[in-house]
Amino acid sequence: MENNWDPGLAGQFTARLLEWKDATPRPMPWKGVRDPYLIWLSEIILQQTRVEQGLPYFERFRARFPTVESLAAAPDDEVFKLWEGLGYYSRARNLLETARYIAGERGGKFPETYEGIKAMKGIGPYTAAAVASFAFDLPHAVVDGNVYRVLARVFGLVTPVDSTDGKRLFSEWAQKLLDIAAPGVYNQAIMDFGAIQCKPASPACGQCPMQSFCRANQTGKVDELPVKARRLAKRVRYFHYLVLRYEGKLLLRKRTAKDIWQHLYDFPLVESEQKEMDLAQLQASPAWKTLVGKNSPMLFHCSQSFQQTLSHQHIIARFWEFDLPDPWVLDDAEYIVEERENLTKFAFPKIVDWYLKKL
Ligand code: SF4
Repeated sequence: MENNWDPGLAGQFTARLLEWKDATPRPMPWKGVRDPYLIWLSEIILQQTRVEQGLPYFERFRARFPTVESLAAAPDDEVFKLWEGLGYYSRARNLLETARYIAGERGGKFPETYEGIKAMKGIGPYTAAAVASFAFDLPHAVVDGNVYRVLARVFGLVTPVDSTDGKRLFSEWAQKLLDIAAPGVYNQAIMDFGAIQCKPASPACGQCPMQSFCRANQTGKVDELPVKARRLAKRVRYFHYLVLRYEGKLLLRKRTAKDIWQHLYDFPLVESEQKEMDLAQLQASPAWKTLVGKNSPMLFHCSQSFQQTLSHQHIIARFWEFDLPDPWVLDDAEYIVEERENLTKFAFPKIVDWYLKKL
């Protein structure tokens, strides 16, 4: 298979794709919407998120923040709470920052060029192309995992999609294939085609309108495309949380450092190189010495281990619960004391949420 451009095949692909779209309606609340704010909101929510998971979040955000001004005026904690469970919290931070920029610096008006949209915080080429084409009919092709997969398979493109050459090649092909008379319709069609027809696993080749000319199908290489040069090894981290209780209150910590889950809440944390830790090791940690000091707590319970997989990390956490006979010593603003029944006000990482639900 070679990366040769074939205009006849390209024309066939675009025509079949648009026919497929007409025959395969996939209604979504953001489809047909021309408001760039709502399109941008849906695209940010759907990044790295399945449509079924992102849909209720989009509906809740749209109901609570119908305009960019209403989102810009929201307290950070309220937005993070509404975002809870979606993961990749940098998206929520960038969402807020960009909303405040549009409301504050641009009088609430979204930029109307691809370059202007892409220049804003948290917006990459994919989201910029989606907003530019859906809201303003600008001729910019979306390129994401769905597009890589569909083009690699139909045209037999074997250049690794995660290489510099691959990114350039796929962007060029995507742009050449775009129907510039209806860029928004075409972009939506290829995203839908990748999501429901040419899926990563078990694509529906038997009922596919591209089957007669799809290179991967003809050569039996459907499972081998797209090619990826490297698969990232995930970093494994072991978290031992101190769940410190005094008279029904708990000690929470706001995560302020530039690390995963920035701006979310969890408990005082002892991070270790080892999965297992004993009480003596825990008591030797700086967090213990600072917060518990000479207080002599009663060990109440050590939880089972909980695991959460992120894009580049795998977290394994245990929760050590202690009842303190005396109050903790707090000299750090990152810690707050809260009643157990008020915890629902806070946005926690999923792994902490799972633990709290088990309590
Ligand atoms: S024939 Fe199969 S691999 Fe080719 S485009 Fe259709 S679903 Fe994808």
